[in-house]
Amino acid sequence: MISERAMGIKPSPTLAMDAKAKEMASKGIDIVNFGAGEPDYDTPEYIKDAAIKAIKDGFTRYTPVGGILELKDAIIQKFESDNNLKYDRENILVSCGAKHSLYNIAQALYNPGDEVLIPSPYWVSYPDQVILNDAIPVFIKTHEKDSFILNPDELKSKITKKTRALILNSPSNPTGITYDKKTLEAIADIALRYDIYIVSDEIYEKLVYDGATHTSVASFGEEIKNKTIVVNGLSKSHSMTGWRIGFAAGAKDIIQSMTNIQSQSTSNPTSIAQKAAVAALTGNLNFIMTMREEFDRRRTFLVNRLNSIEGINCLTPNGAFYAFPNVSKLYGKKTPDGKIISSSMDFAIYLLEFAKVALVHGGAFGSDAHIRVSYAISMENINKGLDRIEDAVSKLTS
Ligand code: PMP
Ligand code: GLU
Repeated sequence: MISERAMGIKPSPTLAMDAKAKEMASKGIDIVNFGAGEPDYDTPEYIKDAAIKAIKDGFTRYTPVGGILELKDAIIQKFESDNNLKYDRENILVSCGAKHSLYNIAQALYNPGDEVLIPSPYWVSYPDQVILNDAIPVFIKTHEKDSFILNPDELKSKITKKTRALILNSPSNPTGITYDKKTLEAIADIALRYDIYIVSDEIYEKLVYDGATHTSVASFGEEIKNKTIVVNGLSKSHSMTGWRIGFAAGAKDIIQSMTNIQSQSTSNPTSIAQKAAVAALTGNLNFIMTMREEFDRRRTFLVNRLNSIEGINCLTPNGAFYAFPNVSKLYGKKTPDGKIISSSMDFAIYLLEFAKVALVHGGAFGSDAHIRVSYAISMENINKGLDRIEDAVSKLTS
């Protein structure tokens, strides 16, 4: 019999959709995959070279659990120059991807029955990681009219004696929205006043547009820095999703506990990937800038075209590589084979089966009025996919 804990969770719906789209493509089906949660760029050569060198040099054995010192130092440097945050080596833990960093936090921080606040829409793994650690996810609905930015008053209203932490994600997956500094300051004040931790997932920090700037909530002073665990990684910034390098920075006692947990689960992240990560963090920013510019171009094109489709309304996102259009005006309509679209899942299935377009239904992120469209695919495919969506929507009848 499977444990109750394991039965309480579901597989990651984003990974499931991506796997389904890739499986259809491998069968020769011409699918346009807007489901991807990873940049479509290859990892830069200089990073690959560092990994190859590591193998050739025999850097293939266990390393310290929390990461090699050279990598910790590169991460410390990154926090200082990008986020104006000063950390020591004892404040840093390198893990097997940011997802693993988040999981270590959940294990180190939450007691059974603790409440963890999650603004909704949310990234799919937050609630399940909370549940896996016997804590309780408490959702705080954010509103489209506020660009899905958490309202500090609504945050306050959800805090109870059992509240342990708030999970913040800016720029956000799935909404693509980046928080402004003023709102982050208000949230930091509340966290300090009510003595709750902030888990700040900043993995998309390099991907901001329209003049938006990324601010780390931990950067407003020593007090909030001690109450925040910042999570980041190389998956999105350096197109290194498969290498599995993420990291967390926070107070020494929490990082030490997370390191202990990691020492009993995965041990160190791959030695070779750590060397590649050093090269990534100490290399120049040309790759990121080129990728960001291309994402920006695709974003504008995608959002304009989505908004030109009758029944679809899309906010202009200013971060990450996702658009999160509202498709609820299409609910109640009928597909050519007589099925009624009554949820984001119905619409996603219709697009997959009828239009051969894959994307993730908003329900997976806690918002059934929406769908998530990733623009981490070529402009040509974005255009082709939008033609198909437009055609599929035009075939719906009242
Ligand atoms: N946080 C968010 C918001 C994400 O979208 C992802 C995507 N995978 C992650 C964390 C985890 O990234 P990774 O484990 O690949 O570093
Ligand atoms: N974060 C990506 C996404 O949301 C990758 C998938 C995952 O890690 O769940 O699609």
